[in-house]
Amino acid sequence: MKTLTVNIVTPDGPVYDSEVDMVIANTASGEIGILPGHIPMVAPLVVGAVKLKKDGKSEYVAVTGGFVEVRPEKVTILTQSAEVASSIDLARAKAAVKRAEERLQMKQDAVDFERANLSLKRAMNRINVHEGNI
Ligand code: ATP
Repeated sequence: MKTLTVNIVTPDGPVYDSEVDMVIANTASGEIGILPGHIPMVAPLVVGAVKLKKDGKSEYVAVTGGFVEVRPEKVTILTQSAEVASSIDLARAKAAVKRAEERLQMKQDAVDFERANLSLKRAMNRINVHEGNI
């Protein structure tokens, strides 16, 4: 059976590099499933979990947006930060949720609101990926 090489790369370096059967990612226009032989494309990603299927098992990587580049035999994801489930610090993510929720409750300008909202999304996504709650 054909496989896909998947690379998930951040400014701090590679986070994931493996052969998989299928990649499922959340693009700005919805979820896409990528199988070997997919037509080439580039799409922006939203904060979410990238699902990597191999031999009937699934692994998840939390990403904070970025881009996915698809070629028939290779998928590259470029994102500001990415964590595999086992490297997520749950206490840190919970503290980030608390901070963000406190900021969202305070009166503030639109820029701060948007920042807090994005921070909340990143932290909730990390908690969900850590807990396998996808
Ligand atoms: P925090 O407020 O906790 O810093 P953040 O969403 O602002 O969270 P980012 O700017 O997205 O953090 O990421 C900064 C770096 O910290 C990245 O390398 C990211 O992988 C890492 N990181 C952030 N939160 C966690 C976490 N809960 N567990 C593991 N690594 C994390």
